Amino acid sequence: MAEEKTRGRRIAVLAALSAAVLAVSTIAVVAGNSLSAASHDAAAPVAAENLDPGDSDVLSEAQAKARDRALRQAENARIRGMLGPDVSPEDFVPDEPTEPITTDGRDIDCRHLKCVALTFDDGPGAQTDRLLRMLADAGALATWFPLGEVVADSPDRLRAIAEAGHEIGNHSWSHPQLTASSNGQIETQINRTARLIERLLGTRPTLVRPPYGAISKRVAAELGRLNAPAVLWDVDPLDWKYRNSTRVYRSVMSQVQPGSIVLLHDVHPTTVAAVPRILKSLANRGYTFVTVSELFGNELTPGQIYLDRAEAYRPD
Ligand SMILES: [Zn+2]
Repeated sequence: MAEEKTRGRRIAVLAALSAAVLAVSTIAVVAGNSLSAASHDAAAPVAAENLDPGDSDVLSEAQAKARDRALRQAENARIRGMLGPDVSPEDFVPDEPTEPITTDGRDIDCRHLKCVALTFDDGPGAQTDRLLRMLADAGALATWFPLGEVVADSPDRLRAIAEAGHEIGNHSWSHPQLTASSNGQIETQINRTARLIERLLGTRPTLVRPPYGAISKRVAAELGRLNAPAVLWDVDPLDWKYRNSTRVYRSVMSQVQPGSIVLLHDVHPTTVAAVPRILKSLANRGYTFVTVSELFGNELTPGQIYLDRAEAYRPD
């Protein structure tokens, strides 16, 4: 989805915003701690309430199958309630909860390493599997900011991203401009997407990338209340506009610095085609490919706005 419409506005907002970020984040930290109960408010399963999954060894095979079917139907009913009537929930019952979305197993200090966080918005899409292979070949981790309505159509793609160890954030349900949305609409956009992803992967995403990068003090405060750090970027090759792999590659390479967050869209084949060259050239320059959470040492604050971590980089 093009970031075009609000681009000039975004830049103006960002310029005005930098001074306000600290104040906003202070408010947000206070407000952000009381939300976890409210964010799990999907309707409770109905048919499953009287069934105990632990009783399988005293049930006949037929009874066990009936129990599993009832549990699945209850779960699907619950997800249908989350999604509305238009979306089939058939694929949304998780097999097993996956590992936490954030990759906390690596010991990476981006104050001393040349780190770069590649981020992919608006998907996942038809190019995502190809992109996952490219990243795997390079031993690189990245961060996705998927749209809820896209995930609803392609849950297996999201699972594949998570299973490969990448980080998953939240790019809203349907890509509205949050600065033109009410606080209630923002909450719906963020929580509906987060609940779907949590249902699919077993972990709730916290990082939010506002569509178009459109953010204000009010939006940041609302994201803080929703326990969400706001992740923007400092490197933008305008890949939605320039559908030319060489141009995307060169633009990234000319802008990137240690601590950068790179905005890309893996829904465009031209962008994905540029990724191997980006990975190779950055690796040759000594960069480590990290998730957004890794870039900030897994210490992002709800309601805070993040563009990059360039100022923290101190080469040894
Ligand atoms: Zn977007």
